[in-house]
Amino acid sequence: MPNPIQQLPELLINQIAAGEVVERPAAALKELLENSLDAGATAIQIELVAGGIKRIRVVDNGVGIAASELKLAVARHATSKIASLDDLERVASLGFRGEALASLAAISRLTLTSRRATSAHAFRLQVLGGETSNLEPAALAEGTVVEAEDLFFNTPARRKFLKTESTEFGHADDAATRIAIAYPSVAVSLSHNGRRIWAHATQSPEERIMAILGDEFAGSSITVSEHQPAFSISGHIAMSRYSRAGRDQQYVFVNGRFVRDKLLQHAIREAYADVLHHQRQPAYALFLSLSPDLVDVNVHPAKAEVRFRDSRGMHQFVFHALRKALSQSSTEGSAPQADPGRYITATNNWSPQQLSMETARPIGIPHQVGGGASWRVDSVPQAAEATRFYDVLRGAETAAMPSKSAGSEMPPLGFAMAQLHGIYVLAQNNAGLVLVDMHAAHERILYEKFKLEADRGETASQPLLAPIAFALSLRERTLLDENVELLAKLGFEFGNLSPNEVAIRAVPAMLDRREPHDLLRELITDLAEYGASRAAEGRRDEILSTMACHAAVRANRQLTIPEMNALLREMEDTERSGQCNHGRPTWYQFAMSDLDRLFMRGR
Ligand code: ADP
Ligand code: MG
Repeated sequence: MPNPIQQLPELLINQIAAGEVVERPAAALKELLENSLDAGATAIQIELVAGGIKRIRVVDNGVGIAASELKLAVARHATSKIASLDDLERVASLGFRGEALASLAAISRLTLTSRRATSAHAFRLQVLGGETSNLEPAALAEGTVVEAEDLFFNTPARRKFLKTESTEFGHADDAATRIAIAYPSVAVSLSHNGRRIWAHATQSPEERIMAILGDEFAGSSITVSEHQPAFSISGHIAMSRYSRAGRDQQYVFVNGRFVRDKLLQHAIREAYADVLHHQRQPAYALFLSLSPDLVDVNVHPAKAEVRFRDSRGMHQFVFHALRKALSQSSTEGSAPQADPGRYITATNNWSPQQLSMETARPIGIPHQVGGGASWRVDSVPQAAEATRFYDVLRGAETAAMPSKSAGSEMPPLGFAMAQLHGIYVLAQNNAGLVLVDMHAAHERILYEKFKLEADRGETASQPLLAPIAFALSLRERTLLDENVELLAKLGFEFGNLSPNEVAIRAVPAMLDRREPHDLLRELITDLAEYGASRAAEGRRDEILSTMACHAAVRANRQLTIPEMNALLREMEDTERSGQCNHGRPTWYQFAMSDLDRLFMRGR
């Protein structure tokens, strides 16, 4: 028998809605900040306790709420921002659904205190479990204070979905930071557990961006400013010499609203396509503005997505604006880092006896020349790496020496003859010439080795004689704390120095003698990128891959013939050695017949 249909009680309706609107403290905070901005606040103070789970308090100096409207403010579908469908279609305020306070009141202990300029004093209202208290007089200058305590205390199932306090704080910090970037004329401060995390006085848009994105960004960024009748864009983007492993410095605002929009991300990515290596992420803070009736903001409960009426036009506009800015900057020295063309081996001067790359293919993997070849080689030599490389391969070294009588016992990848421009190893095997990308090959070998060790739980840790201090932001610190177990499994050990500094006490033995700073920074970025959604196992492999890339021998490293042979032998023994961790080929075979054809030698 089905249950009878019945109208849900108001509190339950609000609790259901809360799942979408304020699913975590950061979302609740975003709604409160938007309310303050809609109220014309020029100063906003944010106080969080326990990642916002215990308390979110937002104090603003906006226009306030009239005493007679306080109860209405916490009622569902009650808003002062729109009154008709027409209003909705050209809404200029951040809020308009009239849901946030009602939703928040349904899942927390909410206190609303507010004062209009015309009022002799403020009034306070408390809501608990859908029950609203009587108004009480309170002391407050003009503005509003919203306090939400014990989030999800009455919806335990939702509460279970909350992450650790530090993770929730990280998200809330992100939400506040986005607002801070978009509203530089508003003074904003954030404190957590009674400690001041950051504060920005009233600033110019440029000052605010640079304060938040940091000095390195500031030193490598250029201005974007493009205005058309329908759209306009402004902001700052990093030149390709400053790029990131993660998407953590990508801010796009549409009419003052932070959005994560695939279309815009794609347009930006495309604009960087020629100048930025595809594995690196650009950094930017961009502000788009267009008439409100050309963009629909009512397609997502938390308004994190928007829909453009002319999406193609928008894509073109953003792409061209960034392209133009980037091309004007290319004379300013951004080229050396990202000029994939330098590393593509063009063969077309040889016509008509051109060597057909069709005939050159790696054994066991589909041939891929062209797209796969355009990647950047890091050419900074590091002495420690060379030693490490030698250590890793030492075991194979003696066995790998070629012998005169070896004709029939020729190993599949043959024996090394030379190294080309510090990048490729040339080897001779029975079939002809073998060409190996030494970094890509070594990276794959290490990755497989690291995975094997980790699978067996054998990852060795190497204590450092003198611990190394490692400075990190609060966000990075949080990620580190949360992943300390995973990192320990991989051989890292940390000690506590201060909230924004840890001591590295031990590093994975496979990285010994290497400077761990860069790698650790990159690992933390990886962790931020993968987030908690990824399974630990998948994450582990990503991390091992990053470690392998760092540990692998770099280009321009002079290898001895025994080292090169050791590399070839390791390749033969390694699974999937035909491709590096990023899917690029690691070696090619050129058969004698290919070379004969090249020289028109009829054999
Ligand atoms: P919405 O923002 O969609 O209108 P909310 O539930 O967030 O819905 O807020 C309801 C109403 O309460 C708002 O329309 C506004 O009039 C009032 N309000 C909320 N927060 C503030 C604030 N900080 N200052 C002034 N008015 C506020
Ligand atoms: Mg609102």
